[in-house]
Amino acid sequence: MNTYIIGNRKNNKKIIDLGDDIKIGSKEFSIISGPCAVESEEQIELAAYTLSNMGVKILRGGAFKPRTSPYTFQGLGLEGLKLLKKAGKRHNMKIVSEIMDPRDIDCSYDYVDIFQIGSRNMQNYALLKEVGKFDKPVLLKRGMASTIEEWLKAAEYIASEGNDNIILCERGIRTFEKYTRNTLDLIAVPILKELTKLPIIVDPSHGTGRKELIRHATRAAVAIGADGVMIEVHPNPCEALSDGDQSLNFEEIKSVLSDIRAIKDCINSFNSY
Ligand code: PEP
Ligand code: MN
Repeated sequence: MNTYIIGNRKNNKKIIDLGDDIKIGSKEFSIISGPCAVESEEQIELAAYTLSNMGVKILRGGAFKPRTSPYTFQGLGLEGLKLLKKAGKRHNMKIVSEIMDPRDIDCSYDYVDIFQIGSRNMQNYALLKEVGKFDKPVLLKRGMASTIEEWLKAAEYIASEGNDNIILCERGIRTFEKYTRNTLDLIAVPILKELTKLPIIVDPSHGTGRKELIRHATRAAVAIGADGVMIEVHPNPCEALSDGDQSLNFEEIKSVLSDIRAIKDCINSFNSY
């Protein structure tokens, strides 16, 4: 499908090396976790402290939030990125945060280890081309109404500018099903493994929109061969300024992490991924 750079390279799987022995797409299953949005210093510090103690090495947190309504919390912007970086540094965690505008790139560059491009911007070609000019890894979420082919072509836009350090993230698509926020398309994982050298992670938080389903979706993501997951966690989900319904508390993420390890051990024994 004309994805020359990110196309399948048998035996040449792309590994995204974030330094400090943290690699996405390697044998180690990657866990990215943190709140939907950075809300305050206390909140992000507590999240980073607790998650790092549970072995999570990559911290997420939105500073520029793509909210459906312009009247809801839009994120703390640059101040949020500074708090995120400070918390990450204190707890030896790498940072991922969303950028929504080519003008966000320069000011975010020093604060993040991975630029996230969200579902709503998967086909923002100006943004894709601009991040493609930088050397920093990009986490490209699937557009909520995009086919796998459109998603891969979006990744190719980034790569065509020189940056093929791309992580794909399945986060669910819009279907007629209303019970969940999105329909998590897990079969995209093995399909993408055939079609591209890029690592693929799964976001069960946006993929389901319901905290009680995250455990199940995560178990399935590990079993189907994803390279990692990204899960939203909040110290007090009932008070979250965004995505509280799908955010796990610390006790819940702890239990999900232990599921991940158990299933990963089992998968490793198959030795076929
Ligand atoms: C997010 O990760 O907080 C987010 C807004 O995700 P998505 O772009 O998948 O909706
Ligand atoms: Mn969110």
